[in-house]
Amino acid sequence: MTITYKVKNGIYVNMTNRCPCACTFCLRQNGDGVYGSDSLWLEREPTVKEVCESIDAWELDQYDELVFCGYGEPTERLDDLLKVAAYVKSRYKTPIRINTNGLSDLINGQETAPELRGLIDTVSVSLNATNAQDYLRLCRPKFGIGSFDAMLAFTRACTESVPHVVMTVVDVVTSKEQQEKSRLLAESLGARLRVRAFEG
Ligand code: SF4
Repeated sequence: MTITYKVKNGIYVNMTNRCPCACTFCLRQNGDGVYGSDSLWLEREPTVKEVCESIDAWELDQYDELVFCGYGEPTERLDDLLKVAAYVKSRYKTPIRINTNGLSDLINGQETAPELRGLIDTVSVSLNATNAQDYLRLCRPKFGIGSFDAMLAFTRACTESVPHVVMTVVDVVTSKEQQEKSRLLAESLGARLRVRAFEG
């Protein structure tokens, strides 16, 4: 079972397969391994202790970043993620990032951005579309049409609790015009846009 894996000079943490979306471009729908690692599909969710032990197996201070990412949506296990983040902060200097679909508030049934304060250094939110209809069509969230606005609200709230907030769009599913609109939208929330390459 692959709990942690290396990408460039970062260590990625894979804690769950769960996700409320079914994005048309998701890696989960395109094979069962990325970046040359073993399958990231977890046969069961690792415990907090197992995740911490897996992180300890790397010399983490040698790496640029610890990233909660993986096949599923990390905030599906937000409480456990924050326990791991607190452990990492107590032992290492490496900055911590969460790659998320931004639906944490809907998943957890409460406002969650304030909980990240002091534990998470960067939040990277998948934007992927510039309006609620396109977002619904592309990401197919189980929470329906309100998901887009909830994702924007979470992102804005993160800018008050987290030092770096980034929004991403995938290059192959967005036109240059959409990317420019996305940039303006991200900046209106206090975030920065990153156009990322499709990796599926
Ligand atoms: S939010 Fe991420 S993990 Fe979930 S379906 Fe979309 S791309 Fe896949």
